[in-house]
Amino acid sequence: MEARIIDGKKLSERLKEDIKARVEGLKQKGVIPGLAVILVGNDPASAVYVRNKERDCNQVGIQSRVVKLDEDTPQRELLEYIYKLNADPTIHGILVQLPLPPHMDPNAVINAIDPSKDVDGFHPVNMGRLVIGEECFEPCTPKGIIRLIQETGQPIAGKHAVVIGRSNIVGKPVALMLLRHNATVTICHSKTVNLKEITRQADILVVAVGKPNLIDGSFIKPGAIVIDVGINRVEDQLVGDVNFQDACRVAGWITPVPGGVGPMTRTMLLENTILAAEKKWAG
Ligand code: NDP
Repeated sequence: MEARIIDGKKLSERLKEDIKARVEGLKQKGVIPGLAVILVGNDPASAVYVRNKERDCNQVGIQSRVVKLDEDTPQRELLEYIYKLNADPTIHGILVQLPLPPHMDPNAVINAIDPSKDVDGFHPVNMGRLVIGEECFEPCTPKGIIRLIQETGQPIAGKHAVVIGRSNIVGKPVALMLLRHNATVTICHSKTVNLKEITRQADILVVAVGKPNLIDGSFIKPGAIVIDVGINRVEDQLVGDVNFQDACRVAGWITPVPGGVGPMTRTMLLENTILAAEKKWAG
């Protein structure tokens, strides 16, 4: 068997066409959707992520505003910027690029964002709504993962989904979202015993760990959908957590790295920003 590739790049380009049309719709109503991105410090990877976000916004017609603050900015000053953006009617989405410098408390910073502008979906109000099944901003990576699974045309309901990883930004929310789609969900982590025994039962396997080659074909149920979230730099190349070549022999569908989850995460941020602007307009 040779797995079919779920092409996140192609899917995200298609979704961007829909997003562009929605931006046009808003502009005709006199609303220009706006996203503010706050970058604190000089982390080179974060600077690249922020530049990509600006470029993505330009591509679909969203107005982006980047706020750059020095590494040693006091947390109080960052919070004041956030309060200003909360009150700014031209800004519909606010994102603080993580990680923050060590003197800042990321929870306090995220808590300061107005939940109706929390397009990353990390505010406890949005997380709480996700848990109790209410409408909310779904975090971008998990939202992109669900779209990639849906792209296979296979139903999620009734399937056994195994998620490896329990972080607040990927593992936990994607498990909740799979549950919302009526999968039977198992969450694994670093203390899980007999990981392989569990993953071999997965119809849908989501791997979000950050360890290259953690998963090879022997961990995969024949025909399964495999979503590789990991991003690891190995000898100057980006690889996932799944040994792609080996997994392809067994899986039914698989996402590549790069070109799988990554582009979808970026596109879901645009979608959440439009959603925020549409909600604001609707009152
Ligand atoms: P974290 O480091 O926050 O979480 C990693 C999880 O993996 C933890 O729950 C940890 O368990 C678990 N884990 C570690 N080792 C093992 C093991 N040997 N077996 C089973 N589970 C294990 O990472 P993130 O969730 O933030 O990110 C995961 C990966 O996804 C990273 O490579 C990151 O770069 C990538 N990523 C990609 C994105 C994209 O857009 N493509 C977006 C976000 C992340 P425990 O809780 O017990 O420590």
